[in-house]
Amino acid sequence: MDENWTGSYTKPSPSLYPHQWNWDSGFIAIGYSHYNQKRAELELLSLFNAQWPNGMLPQIVFNPEFLGNYFPEPDFWQAPEGRLTSGITMPPLHAIACLHILENAQDEEEAFSFLRKVFPDLLASHRYFYEYRDPNNEGLVYIRHPWESGIDNSPNWDATLRAIKIDKNKLPPYERRDVKHGIPAEERPSDEDYDRYVFLVDLFRRNHYDEKAIFDECPFLIQDSLFNSILCRANQALLEIANHIGEDSSEIREWTDQTTRAIGTKLWCDRCRIFECYDLVRKSHIHGATAAGFIPLFAGAASREQAKILYEHMNSIHFCALHQGNCFTIPNFDMIHTSVKEVADFFQKACYQIGPHRFSPDDIEHGILRGNARPPYRPFRQFKKRDPRLAFAVERVDARIHFALVCGSRSCAPIRFYDPNEIEQQLELAAYKFVNSSEVVIAPEEKKVIISQVFDWYQRDFGGKKVVLKFIKKRVDSDWKREFLTENIDQVKVEYLFYDWNLNH
Ligand SMILES: [Zn+2]
Repeated sequence: MDENWTGSYTKPSPSLYPHQWNWDSGFIAIGYSHYNQKRAELELLSLFNAQWPNGMLPQIVFNPEFLGNYFPEPDFWQAPEGRLTSGITMPPLHAIACLHILENAQDEEEAFSFLRKVFPDLLASHRYFYEYRDPNNEGLVYIRHPWESGIDNSPNWDATLRAIKIDKNKLPPYERRDVKHGIPAEERPSDEDYDRYVFLVDLFRRNHYDEKAIFDECPFLIQDSLFNSILCRANQALLEIANHIGEDSSEIREWTDQTTRAIGTKLWCDRCRIFECYDLVRKSHIHGATAAGFIPLFAGAASREQAKILYEHMNSIHFCALHQGNCFTIPNFDMIHTSVKEVADFFQKACYQIGPHRFSPDDIEHGILRGNARPPYRPFRQFKKRDPRLAFAVERVDARIHFALVCGSRSCAPIRFYDPNEIEQQLELAAYKFVNSSEVVIAPEEKKVIISQVFDWYQRDFGGKKVVLKFIKKRVDSDWKREFLTENIDQVKVEYLFYDWNLNH
């Protein structure tokens, strides 16, 4: 954040996203509130400087210095009165960020004066939603473009977008810039999606950003569970701020109550057991489970019963593949239905960015923990000769890692947390448990051991087939097994079990 600080706002990314983005600034201000109060305040003030007269906080505030590298830019948006902003908004995180600034204030007096200054603008930004985005006065506001959602490419928008019939000849000419920054095309939206994004922007500007006219014509009007939940939580934050600085809060209280109720009833789907979006044009729920379906928990808008169902859903195969009751990351979308093998190159594609490096699960397993070994059934070692990540490869492989690494399939070791201070005992325990599970079968009458394919694939990590047997012998839990292995280690027949790639649920 420090390197992307411009003096008045923080660039979300130096090349692809050099302008100021609405909810990014909310998150960024929350971050700054912990160590640089002044900057947190400036970040939000510079966003509010670009607020429209109707109260709308634009999604992008363009920095004239960086124009020419992004699409769509102000010339395409044609915002009223030549404003250098886009013509849509984003989830209203700002009251929540402002409350963080007060709670984490290094200078409380300063925080209060900031809140007094920003309060009327915050209030106007919330009032905009209830005045212009809730035409039926339901307490639920709609988004009118996927880019308003904050989760722009969510599968939630696919069906509604595809239902929009486009006449390519009537579409204004445009050139995408997002694919010119070295990001693989398959990680960006398709051209068909982009045509629809552009179609919507064109509709807004043709209607001169008149919200009533847009509502009458727009084919994309969605009451989103994430957007409304953040608004609901932001209302609560705004209420607290109003009380802190002695402002009238009755209007905010009404919004909060109404939106809490509306999320809990209209956006809940009994069939899918999760909160969903509602398509105002097609008058139906957008069925399907996404991470956005859990956000009403953040808003306090889920009943106890709903929260319990959500908890169960979160811990089911759909979101927490291992169903261990300790799910700690929620994928955006329930996309793995039966096996990780169904997702092409799953362990190569999913990546973690750590400092300047990217690590896929394969990089971590074969590159680092296996000392840059060749993955099973592949011709080359994980890292090439000059790969800077080679510096992280271990020198001596500890084969017990194979009982700690988990890929989510039934034949894997169970999920555990590993603590650097106890790693030796923990790895030993993991190996012991595996050796004494159904993954190792000893059949003395047939002079045979039948063991997991893990021992075959990674035989070299153990030091060869014979060392594998010694490894097992050292850890078996009964004397007869140990005696059998001791006496027969040279002539015992080794067979391998079928590896069950199905998800462990
Ligand atoms: Zn549903």
